[in-house]
Amino acid sequence: MKTILITGASRGIGREIAKLFAKKGYNVAINYNKSIDKAKSLYEEIVSLNANAILLKADVQNPKEVKHMVEETIACFGHIDILVNNAGICQNNLLIDESDELTAQIININLLGSIYTSKYVIPFMLKNGKGKIINISSIWGQHGASLESTYSSSKAGLIAFTKSLAKEYGYNNILVNCICPGLIDTDMNKNLSKSERDEIIKKIPVQRIGETSDISNLVLFLCEETGDYINGQVITVDGGFTL
Ligand code: NAP
Repeated sequence: MKTILITGASRGIGREIAKLFAKKGYNVAINYNKSIDKAKSLYEEIVSLNANAILLKADVQNPKEVKHMVEETIACFGHIDILVNNAGICQNNLLIDESDELTAQIININLLGSIYTSKYVIPFMLKNGKGKIINISSIWGQHGASLESTYSSSKAGLIAFTKSLAKEYGYNNILVNCICPGLIDTDMNKNLSKSERDEIIKKIPVQRIGETSDISNLVLFLCEETGDYINGQVITVDGGFTL
């Protein structure tokens, strides 16, 4: 049975990925940081689907916690076949108004967290002779967003990280790809008013905000045999918003 480790699986996109892979029979390692109740309810949902799961509290900014999380997953399931670097936070402010603490936190969670997690997972994938890593970036990592300059930088970093790892570990049958979602309906966008959402929808050719399943379905495609010749790619899922 294959094992997937998803960072930031307690809510939003990560949660949807966890549920989809559980339905497909994968062992699911659920990482969370603050949302313990949501993580527990996801665990119960997955177990009720007759899939195996483990709950892993870790702040991905902290390399010791990340290392422990990876070791716990290996102790429980023996191997990690798929890693999804999904944990992330965003901000909405002028750069000049951003505290140094927040700037560091965004980079540390979104970029460094993904680097630490990959660094600790890859040795086990090498032992296993295979692996898939999916990094969840953003359209703003491709295009840059006003009021989200640190966020956009962290996500642009993930794109370079993806391409670098793909070149470094493709030879070892570890395939690394990056998904750049557009606007997806999660807590991350809960502060948008109805009129702001409507304004954005007008600019999206398919005339809707994305669902978490729009992302999880692509993760599954990349991680199953359908994705076995796709490596180092940056795939935009935004309904045509950034065309
Ligand atoms: P969300 O609903 O706000 O969920 C964020 C997840 O990240 C939560 O499960 C949270 O866990 C976790 N997280 C935050 N800080 C963490 C930390 N230090 N350590 C471990 N986990 C942490 O956001 P989302 O929309 O699902 O976003 C998921 C990913 O997609 C992010 O990387 C985001 O940048 C990216 N993305 C989202 C959109 C969008 O429109 N929603 C668009 C482009 C890209 P806890 O609550 O347990 O702390």
